[in-house]
Amino acid sequence: MCGIVGYIGAKNCVPILIEGLKRLEYRGYDSAGLGLINSDHCEVIKNKGKVAELEKLVHQKNIQSSLGIGHTRWATHGEPSVINAHPHVNKEKTLFLIHNGIIENYLSLKKGLEVEGYQFVSETDTEVLAHLIDHYLKLKNSLFHAVRYALNEVEGTYGIAVIYNGEKDKIVVAKKGSPLVIGIGENENYIASDVTALIAYTKQVVYLEDGEIAEITANSFKTKTILDEDIIKEINQVEVGIDDITKGGYPHFMLKEIMDQPGSIFNSMRGRLVFDEGISKLGGLQGFEERILNSRRIIISACGTSWHAGLVGEYMLEQYTGIPTEVDYASEFRYRNPIITKDDTVIFISQSGETADTLAALKEAKKKGALCLGVCNVVGSSIARESHAGVYIHAGPEIGVASTKAFTAQLVVFSLITLLIARSKSLSLQQGQEIICEMQNLTKKIETILKQNEIIEKIAEQYVDSKNFLYLGRGYNFPVALEGALKLKEISYIHAEGYPAAEMKHGPIALIDDNMPVVFIATKDYTYDKVVSNIQEVRARKGRILAIISEDDDQIEKMVDHVIRVPQTHSMLMPILTVIPLQLLAYHIAVKKGLNVDQPRNLAKSVTVE
Ligand code: GLU
Repeated sequence: MCGIVGYIGAKNCVPILIEGLKRLEYRGYDSAGLGLINSDHCEVIKNKGKVAELEKLVHQKNIQSSLGIGHTRWATHGEPSVINAHPHVNKEKTLFLIHNGIIENYLSLKKGLEVEGYQFVSETDTEVLAHLIDHYLKLKNSLFHAVRYALNEVEGTYGIAVIYNGEKDKIVVAKKGSPLVIGIGENENYIASDVTALIAYTKQVVYLEDGEIAEITANSFKTKTILDEDIIKEINQVEVGIDDITKGGYPHFMLKEIMDQPGSIFNSMRGRLVFDEGISKLGGLQGFEERILNSRRIIISACGTSWHAGLVGEYMLEQYTGIPTEVDYASEFRYRNPIITKDDTVIFISQSGETADTLAALKEAKKKGALCLGVCNVVGSSIARESHAGVYIHAGPEIGVASTKAFTAQLVVFSLITLLIARSKSLSLQQGQEIICEMQNLTKKIETILKQNEIIEKIAEQYVDSKNFLYLGRGYNFPVALEGALKLKEISYIHAEGYPAAEMKHGPIALIDDNMPVVFIATKDYTYDKVVSNIQEVRARKGRILAIISEDDDQIEKMVDHVIRVPQTHSMLMPILTVIPLQLLAYHIAVKKGLNVDQPRNLAKSVTVE
């Protein structure tokens, strides 16, 4: 979480930093701040709330600077307030520091610094780093080495950027567990926690690895490890364009991203289907096919929406590869001392590729000798780089905090992985080709669902005042029920639960009365008749029912209050279609409640803290 941006060069950096922070705001929006140093003075400007609040302050001051850093915060330690906002400073207000992550041993470091006479003003863990670096500066170290020495005392995670009035020609950055990228310009350089803040200015970037530190001037950058070893970094070309990170005429990123799905799922399968052989081709897994095929077990580890994608992946892999597959929350996996052997394949899913728990779970599985595969959206992200092999989902940047197009692209990738392995197991050529045909038709089918946007908006009106929701589905549509409920919760703040439809009788049925909306995902597959019975059970108790049904269904409409029809496809691909009306439903309910769907309260996009 949290957005970091910085500039050094000849231009006035203030608009660059504000623009960069706006692009990073999905990472956190509790407070925002700038640290600016120019030839005659240095200043920190910070405000509570969104970047727009900071921008107002900055305009009043009319300040210019050619060296600066900016931060948008997702609070971990200390409430969102001006005092706790970054940058944090030393006593003399000559050193400015911004931080993403958690300094786990901040209390013991703080105690030591207090003994030396340092005073603390904020409740954050971050402030300790500003004083610790100051301590090493006062021992006559350069900024670079002062930061390095300080980081050698730190336990926890960080992406930091530091500037100092005593060395006005540089920014020092370092990374461990939180992302940090350097943008290379002409006679100017940039830093950010995410390339989206940079691509308006440069496409040349250098990704820092954990334990690395860099000193960036307007014309150069030098990198070392925090243990002072020299390292040479390669410069990468970013492929994301500016159109990918704007709203493109839509009122919200979330709606744009929902509407993007015909294109994003097309991109995630482009060039990867081999119809003649009924198989997929995944460059990122080349050379690892045998090992995956011979796995004793596949484990899928993820958080949030990616975890739901993993559940669908489990159903696909077990059904068609016969390899026992299980899905684990990354946060539980890493602390449970899981039983992992070198015969296991573990697939880690993360849109950002920076999810702290998933990254830590990956490191744990790697230590235990498993084959680790990453399924990420952000190219060059930590999970993508840390994995042995992997598959990018190629959904394009996802900026709305509630994940939509990344979910459907993750499902496409699981279909591709299934095809890749299953053809060497029980999947026949004909079955493989059937799946491929259906995958190729998904784009058109998604378009027909998206055309019902206005109908879904009208249905949403009926449910705006609901306080609770139940989402029910079976088989492949059970994870969709979980995902539908999560979408609604995160952006509309309505309590919602997803359940396997059959489980309803074991508890949730007690909640059903004429105030309880129940969303059934009831498309035609092997579970259909059972789901119809569950609908009857809810109806008998006067629940209000909205059902996602197959295009040609002529039964369910008579039993329920509202229906949304979706085209039929192969059962393992159905979730890619059935989730879309649920994304739109959540979106419209939240908009009608007047909520900020792109930046829901308390949440942030890429969860880089544990
Ligand atoms: N732990 C720091 C704080 O609470 C940084 C949080 C962040 O990553 O935004 O301020």
